[in-house]
Amino acid sequence: MAAFGTRFMPEMALSTFDGDGWSQPVQVAADQISLHPAAHVLHYSSTCFEGLKAFRHDDGSVNIFRMEANIARLIQSSQLLALPKVTPELLEEMIVNIVKKYVTDVPEPPGSMYIRPTHIGTEPSIGKAASPSLTSMLYVLLSPVGDYFSGGIRPLRLLLEEHGSRCAAHMGMVKSGGNYASALQPIMQARASVNADQVLFCPGGDVQETGAANFLLIDGDEMITKALDSSFLHGITRDSILTIARDMGMKVSERELSVDELIERASKPETEAALSGTAAVLTPVGTLIRDGKDYRVGSGTQGPTTEKLRKALNAIQWGQTADKHGWLTKV
Ligand code: PMP
Repeated sequence: MAAFGTRFMPEMALSTFDGDGWSQPVQVAADQISLHPAAHVLHYSSTCFEGLKAFRHDDGSVNIFRMEANIARLIQSSQLLALPKVTPELLEEMIVNIVKKYVTDVPEPPGSMYIRPTHIGTEPSIGKAASPSLTSMLYVLLSPVGDYFSGGIRPLRLLLEEHGSRCAAHMGMVKSGGNYASALQPIMQARASVNADQVLFCPGGDVQETGAANFLLIDGDEMITKALDSSFLHGITRDSILTIARDMGMKVSERELSVDELIERASKPETEAALSGTAAVLTPVGTLIRDGKDYRVGSGTQGPTTEKLRKALNAIQWGQTADKHGWLTKV
């Protein structure tokens, strides 16, 4: 299987905003777009995107998981980046129609069709360093993906970064390209220096998130994770897992979590930690690295609650249990 996100369906959905309105969406070749080299996005990073998945069920139907929530987040990101306003109806039509076109290509579980809506500022003006792009392009790519855990489940090693931030504090909730670029240097350094898989950004000791997933601490029947604010991405998997945890009778505490408290709780044998995200689903964290020292989280292996929650989420996505929260859209 090709590496995650490197294979694409031949066509994508596309609509453009010309300053007044959106064009009728079309399906066009997914391997090229035409942009002026002065396009706003290429200079001033007016870009945001989404990541969601469509799943094939046993009855042959294809179902998109939490489409409304992902559309709402792209609309919010667009607004916070002063990009033209996207309507939910437009993006929903584009997503549903392109998934329908490739409905037979949606892999069987544990694979899925990854959906990547992208919104970019296209106005050809390098004079607009401090003003928004009046034109934009919205497109939806499809990428069939396999099992994230095909090599088996390996608990991750996370470096705790207590000084640097992933991105500007007021931009963390925006799913924008620049945030990812700004996190790359610390992530590469963490890989090279202490063989970490990811960096857990904790500026000033405040446990936030990693480069591409949210962080959840599980202590007995309590789940602890940072309360929503502008500093980190409001993960839709995070929201789904918290909802499932509440349904299972767990106590969910959305509050500040300090690195000191995290290290202290991690030493208890029953403690678990995990990363949540559309790609990561729910990946166990086995080790935290602070100031060059390794701290094992609980047993250091995948804990039973992490496994139970991931299975419960997969069961909804794969149509093996009732979709009682209305998270699936059948195409
Ligand atoms: N944080 C960041 C920085 C991410 O890139 C992602 C992946 N989209 C997440 C958290 C998890 O978000 P979601 O559960 O919506 O995929």
